[in-house]
Amino acid sequence: MKTEIMFKNIKAFVFDVDGVFTDGSVLALPDGDLLRTFNAKDCFAVRMAVDNGYPVAIVTGGCSQSIMHRAASLGVKARDLYQLSRDKRPDFLRFCSDYNLQPSEVVFVGDDIPDIPALREAGLAVCPSDAVTEVKEACNYISPFPGGRGCIRDIVEKVLKMQGKWHFDPTAPVSANYPDHITQLSKKTGRNV
Ligand SMILES: [Mg+2]
Repeated sequence: MKTEIMFKNIKAFVFDVDGVFTDGSVLALPDGDLLRTFNAKDCFAVRMAVDNGYPVAIVTGGCSQSIMHRAASLGVKARDLYQLSRDKRPDFLRFCSDYNLQPSEVVFVGDDIPDIPALREAGLAVCPSDAVTEVKEACNYISPFPGGRGCIRDIVEKVLKMQGKWHFDPTAPVSANYPDHITQLSKKTGRNV
């Protein structure tokens, strides 16, 4: 099947974190936590998908409070954030079944070997330009952009544009969930997030 037709059939998105949302770098802190850099343009695309009604999941082998907050701020529901996912395939399939979707209707974006079993199930298997060779061989579409530098923006924008959904409505209700202290701060400034 041509990839253009696959883009048109997509109803939901699943993303890995390290090497997809990020460039794969982690800053290891003395307390054991890991800091990651997320790309604002990639994240805006995810919010566009959520705001346009697409279910979005994040499936990662990592685990941190900051991933939880970042996912929530993008509108990803807590039940659709799978952290410490050793085997991503069953988590991917569970997400599909939670939304009564066929795996063939869902895109999975991954960059490394643990992603391959889920990529093989997905209707559209996507990787960034700097994914490992084994992953590239398992994918239908290799983005020209690397992880953390436009790969997510590329795939989400393509799917939404092909489906006529690439519209930003600044008056739409905000689907994001922010930590309490951010919500409090927004109230002080007179804006509700
Ligand atoms: Mg990865």
